[in-house]
Amino acid sequence: MPRTTIMASAAVLAVALVSLPSAASRVGAGSAATGLTIGNVRIADGRGGALRRGGVRIEGERIVGVGQVKPREGDTVMDGGGLVLAPGFIDIHNHSTTGLTGDPAAETQVAQGITTVVVGADGSSPWPIAAYLAERRSKPAALNVMVMVGHATVRQMVMGSDYKRPARDDEIAKMAALVDQGMREGAIGLSSGLEYEIGSYSETKEVVELAKVAARYGGFYMSHVRDEADKAFEAFREAIQIGEEAKIPVQISHIKLGTVGVWRRAADVVRLIEGARKRGIDVTADCYPYQAWHSTITVLVPNKKYDDPASVKRALDDVGGAANVMIDGDKAHPEYEGKTLDAIAKESGVTPVDVFIQIVKDGGASVIATSMVDEDIRAFYQQPWVMVASDGGIGMRHPRGAGTFPRVLGPFVRERHWLTLPEAVRKMTSAPAARLKLKDRGTIAEGNVADLVLFDPATVVDRSTFKEPFLLPAGISRVFVGGSLVWDQGKPTGALPGKMLQRF
Ligand SMILES: [Zn+2]
Repeated sequence: MPRTTIMASAAVLAVALVSLPSAASRVGAGSAATGLTIGNVRIADGRGGALRRGGVRIEGERIVGVGQVKPREGDTVMDGGGLVLAPGFIDIHNHSTTGLTGDPAAETQVAQGITTVVVGADGSSPWPIAAYLAERRSKPAALNVMVMVGHATVRQMVMGSDYKRPARDDEIAKMAALVDQGMREGAIGLSSGLEYEIGSYSETKEVVELAKVAARYGGFYMSHVRDEADKAFEAFREAIQIGEEAKIPVQISHIKLGTVGVWRRAADVVRLIEGARKRGIDVTADCYPYQAWHSTITVLVPNKKYDDPASVKRALDDVGGAANVMIDGDKAHPEYEGKTLDAIAKESGVTPVDVFIQIVKDGGASVIATSMVDEDIRAFYQQPWVMVASDGGIGMRHPRGAGTFPRVLGPFVRERHWLTLPEAVRKMTSAPAARLKLKDRGTIAEGNVADLVLFDPATVVDRSTFKEPFLLPAGISRVFVGGSLVWDQGKPTGALPGKMLQRF
């Protein structure tokens, strides 16, 4: 991380350069600070245009000047050291729903530059929404929070344990009333997780009816679609259909082509979604920057026949073979850890299917499995309607939980040149802000809230791994939420200025 020099001066800036351990100095000795001026930065304003040199001036929680700003009498003055100043990153898919209670400083999140999280994704939300908002307000966090109402959440409330079937019309009406309540109480849209147990039994028309309710309140529909594997195209079509019939904007969560059968077909997905956009359906997506997932070995076999050689073989073929499945933790066989099923099989002189069946019989294991190919991830990130989101959050044992945003800025922007820095910042800021109808966040502009990130584009990088998922990234120098410093050169400040952001 760069050393930061601090500017101190009386009426005129650029008089004395001193290195101080504290954050900044004040203009006009002894006078009360009226604002904060951050000078000597390259501004990525969130709109995707070229960086420009200058600074910003903040009063209270708002940005009051952008460009060639002059500090006023009493201002705190901070030298940005030539780093990039961007709007705070908005994570539209984050699982810190309960994590914020125990970790309000949200270290792994603000360390990435995240200043706003949207929780309640994948169909699962807190309930009641009003109670959640009240709890978050009484226990503020370092960052801002928005909440969705979850389809599976209301589905289970109405159907109880009898959810393994399509809902009847009267049940759909009851769910709709709950979605209505959630939206009135402050949810910003409806989320679904149609690949998960409870949501998977719903028919499309059920989701359409609930999405119509969210649409009435100006909300959007966000979906972990029904299938991210061989039937991904059907699942994307269903999401588009829901948007079309409910007349609601659609956000496809963590867009993915997760099995060999659909790998390298990102161009076809792009064609499908652009076709819908041309027809006037407002479809966008987000994508996390990782090829692999981390879970238990049994999730590889969707039909749950873990001792059936044909089912296991199919499962291993689907992820591109046994070389793509690495054992991460195995109590019965610690000697397997760090090895792929393929390598273990070769060493033991048996087949990978045999190894899989034995591991499950002996108590199971955690695995890291490849589910995406880089060229699909790159193709998605190169679409203007694809945002960066983590699908992570506090306590997430996948490296995306602590690494997503720096991983895009470092490896993807600086090293591989998949996208430009201003475009990457746009995908983290104004693009999600537009989807969330956040009118005064997501860009650096006069009058906007001062949610800001100062980072070094030459060094920013993720450091979290599957082995060490909580390693904090490097290169994120400072993070401000509502004008308050929450992250200062490697440490949370303890400030908790985050707000619950409600509808529009
Ligand atoms: Zn999901």
